[in-house]
Order: sequence, then C-alpha cells, then structure tokens
Amino acid sequence: MLEYRRSGTRPLLGGLKLDHPDNSIHLAPAGQLTSVHEIAERLFPAYTVDGGSIHLAGCWLEDRRFLRLGNPAAGYRYLDESGSPVDAGLVARLGMQHTVPWVPPPEMPPDRLAKMVASSLALAERVGGNKGPLEVALIWCKYAEGKLRVTIGDQSADFLFAGWTAALEAPPFVCPHTGAASYHALATDDGRIVAAEKTARCARSGRRVLAEELVECDATGERVLPELTRICPVTERPVLAAVLVTCSLCCQEVSPRAVEAGICAACRSLRPIDGGEPPLDRLLAKHPGLKRWSKWKAAETAEVHVLLATRWWRRLLLVADKKTSAIRHAKLGNRLARLAPIPVDDLDALR
Ligand SMILES: [Zn+2]
Repeated sequence: MLEYRRSGTRPLLGGLKLDHPDNSIHLAPAGQLTSVHEIAERLFPAYTVDGGSIHLAGCWLEDRRFLRLGNPAAGYRYLDESGSPVDAGLVARLGMQHTVPWVPPPEMPPDRLAKMVASSLALAERVGGNKGPLEVALIWCKYAEGKLRVTIGDQSADFLFAGWTAALEAPPFVCPHTGAASYHALATDDGRIVAAEKTARCARSGRRVLAEELVECDATGERVLPELTRICPVTERPVLAAVLVTCSLCCQEVSPRAVEAGICAACRSLRPIDGGEPPLDRLLAKHPGLKRWSKWKAAETAEVHVLLATRWWRRLLLVADKKTSAIRHAKLGNRLARLAPIPVDDLDALR
C-alpha cells in the first residue's frame, strides 16, 4: 500500500516504481477470471447446442481501475475512476475485499500506467478524510467483452457478452429469427440456427421448423406445415389436404368439419333468392336459357356460388366461380340426393 502522511497534502511516492508489476499499490480481485481460456470455461457450460458447438469468436479483456482508500482498522472506501463512491453491492460482486497483487497486461504501456496512478493519487489526495493512516491502493478489475458463436453444420450465429470477469454470467443466446432468449440452440431442418424452445416438428412430415411457422389443421388439430394444408372454402380455416372431403353436391373439397352426410354447410344452407341478385343475374345473362328455371336458391363459400333451381319435377344445381362467374359444375336430377353431372355447354338447351 501507499501511505499518505496525514499532516501533508502530498502523497509519499518515494522509491515507488509505478510501472513495476509487483508493486503492492496495484491489486486485483483474487477470484476474477484473467484469461480468455477461463472465460470460455465459465461461459460454455451454460449452453446446449444440438449437433454443433459454441466457441468464442472474439474476446477483449480490459483492466478498469478502482481506488481503495483507508486502512484495515478504520475500513476502506472504494471510488471509481471519476471519484464517485462504488456501491457496496458492486464491491462485493467484484470481490474487491479479497485481493491479490495485480499483474498488469503487456498492452498497458508503462507511461500510461504511470499517468493513471498519478491521477488516482491526486484523486485520493482531494478526497482524503480518513481516520488513521490513509492507504491508497488501485484495484484493477477485469472487464470482458466479446462474441460467442454457435456453429451447426455450415451455419453460425453470433451473440455478444460483456461483464466484469469476477461476476461474469453467460448471457442467453438470442435467436436471430424470433428474438427469443435461450440457452439451447439447434438447427431447423432448413439449417437455420434458432432457440430450441421456439421450434416444433410438423405432425405429418416430421420436419423441424419454427413453431410459429406451423398452422393448426382445423379438422385434426395437428400442427403442420402450411404447404400441406388448403383453406377450406366453407370454414375458411386451414385443413390438411390429405383429410379434405368432397361435398357430394357442390364438389368442393372442404373440411370434414363442414360436412354432414356428405353435404357441406354451404349446400345445406341454400336460401331462396329472386332475380336481381348479382350471382343469379350474371348467370342468366350468360345463359339466357336458364330463365326457364324458377324457385332459385343460393348459398356461397369463399370460392363459389351454389345455385339450385327447379323446373317441373327436376332440379338443376350450378356451382359458379365467384371470381370468373364460370360454371364449375352443373348437375341435373329429380331429387337432390341423385343429381348427376351434365356438360356445362348443354345448359342453354335444357328443357
Ligand atoms: Zn357443397
């Protein structure tokens, strides 16, 4: 330690070699990490990387000084570089009460070190005010900054860490695709490195993707890839293409949930309409021969208008595309349950 004379205003520097590594004015927390290797050993165990590894992609260590004033009997005060008192919690966290001689890093030039010591002593002189002999010590705490890199296959993802090495904690990996913080990284089947908790497997294909990229099949409740689904024109919900059923009347592929006894909800809800309603008007304009039919009923889905007409004892069912008004299907029969397809070209000639 360097001791001030209480009566004087100048610190005693006699014989002190400020740039000498063994100089007892320089202390460091006994428990702090001092090498990149130690930092790696501290951080790496926090992470799980499925099928890959984690390593340091960069690490910078810097010694930051604190000033300790006082003596063992009266106790110590700790100041930062600006002369502000250091919070007791930080003193404890950085282990400033348990110190060892500091070994300066080679990158600290002697003249810079000498300047820093001189400014610290000047600060100690200004602050003063201690009972008993005023010992001055510089405590050098290592601060680390760097970059961690998760590598899986030929992909990698970086994230930053920073902190005092005495209290360095592994920061969570920040998923570059979801922003989620995690200590468990893995790769989706298309190679993206993501937070494990944010992934899920498609219930049908088994492919691992981000959970948010899956959709729920409205019929089975399974979470699956969107490309395996279609939007049911009746429920307007995604449904696995593999479980779609065909309505026996309108021939649309719809969700099983929209079908009862083979007929979709739209076809079950046909309601009477009069002339003047757009879908019917367009149809009659295109096929004037249909004006012979009456008692029109209609229903619609996201894709089509379903129209049902009666003439004598016969029934005619037409399914018209909503966008183009083109007739997708035409069916004719005596009973609704027994309609048979007829060529669309024959509509105008129907008697
Ligand atoms: Zn239908």
